[in-house]
Amino acid sequence: MKQNTGYAWLIPVWALVIFVTGLFVTGACSAYSRSDYQQFQNAIIDHRNRLNKKFKKIRRTETRYIIVHTSELGLSTTLRVVSKGKQFKSGHRTPGGHAHYVIARSGHTYRIMDKQYRADHAGLSMWQGKQDVSSVSIGIELVGYHSAPLTEQQYRSAAMLIDILQSVYHLDDTAVLTHSQIAFGRPNPWFPKDHRGRKRCAKNFDRSRAGLGPTLDFDPDVRTERLLPDPYLAKLFYGKQPAVAKVAATAPVSNLISKNNSAWSIAGEDYDSRTTAYVLPNGRILAGNQIKDTIGWHLLPVNTKVLLDQKIEKDHIQISQTPVKVITDRMTAWSHAGPAYRFDSTIYFLPSGMIYSGSRIPDWDDLPQKTQLIIGYQGPFLITDAMTAYGIAGQKYKDPDTVYFLPPGHVKTGNTITDFSNLPEGTRVYLPLDDIG
Ligand SMILES: [Zn+2]
Repeated sequence: MKQNTGYAWLIPVWALVIFVTGLFVTGACSAYSRSDYQQFQNAIIDHRNRLNKKFKKIRRTETRYIIVHTSELGLSTTLRVVSKGKQFKSGHRTPGGHAHYVIARSGHTYRIMDKQYRADHAGLSMWQGKQDVSSVSIGIELVGYHSAPLTEQQYRSAAMLIDILQSVYHLDDTAVLTHSQIAFGRPNPWFPKDHRGRKRCAKNFDRSRAGLGPTLDFDPDVRTERLLPDPYLAKLFYGKQPAVAKVAATAPVSNLISKNNSAWSIAGEDYDSRTTAYVLPNGRILAGNQIKDTIGWHLLPVNTKVLLDQKIEKDHIQISQTPVKVITDRMTAWSHAGPAYRFDSTIYFLPSGMIYSGSRIPDWDDLPQKTQLIIGYQGPFLITDAMTAYGIAGQKYKDPDTVYFLPPGHVKTGNTITDFSNLPEGTRVYLPLDDIG
């Protein structure tokens, strides 16, 4: 916890850091010692030379805020995107420079650019009437999801990094905010005016675990009617029952449309994207960009399922039907499985040929790309001369939901295997949990 110190500009920054961290050795506020701070600073990984050459370095003239984000990606993709830029589905590319720091789930901290420059991290944003918050703030990306728990190591690094930055820029705890608190959106089918709720980013960031006191107990831009409130975020950040809100912050979000769960609250800015699929209760599938002119946003039936990031083939959205998911630079074990990533019924097939069940995975970001996984399965059942695929799976041995592991490293579904009499030795079967009584 930090109060703003008006006299700090009289002494050099390094002395200030030592002074402030020195205070914390004896202060009741900090859990970290001076050597913790020194070790943390020395261990920051310098990633500055990875910055996109097209990124224009512009000095900030003022630093009012520190903005915390969750990257909604794994570490390797986060580092690439913040340094090199984002590629949009339209083909548009940004020149990178989307954060000053990245904190991995291990707590390892990366310096993406010198903190004196403006990072393009907040987008359409406003706090206390000031727009373009990127121009007056430092951006910190925590590798993780707004609906998934952050790690203890991340809170430890965030606490020390924020502390140091607060000292450098003379900022108190109310200057530390999440992206979800400061982002705003333009009017859409659910909000007739500019409004909060464009981002859910870092809504799960637990300030107290990062050694921070509270922010304002109201949204300054909603109070002055510059913006409409987002009911969910307003309750979470400024509601009277923070304990309830905290539970909601990391609860898995339903992807089914209901009275209180609109397409906007599920998909956010991607609600009308051509890669967002709407599966209606009658089985009809529509893309986000088709809803307005077919059904209309306010007439989507209850229990319509919303699926993000679906493939487009021959101009039509394609829902992935196979139970075998793949970890890619965009899709982590968390994006596929959510909290089930560490269940025993989630099975991982690594590119090395190793097989692990979820309970043996330390973190969803620890799995290499091209790892395949199945969610909600029981097994393995070993196929032998005495126990055939039919003997194990019955009629379902050829089903698209029945999964086979064929040594040394092929994962196939029953419907894609043609010759069951010639399976390699050591072939194993996995069956959906709901098939087993
Ligand atoms: Zn963000």
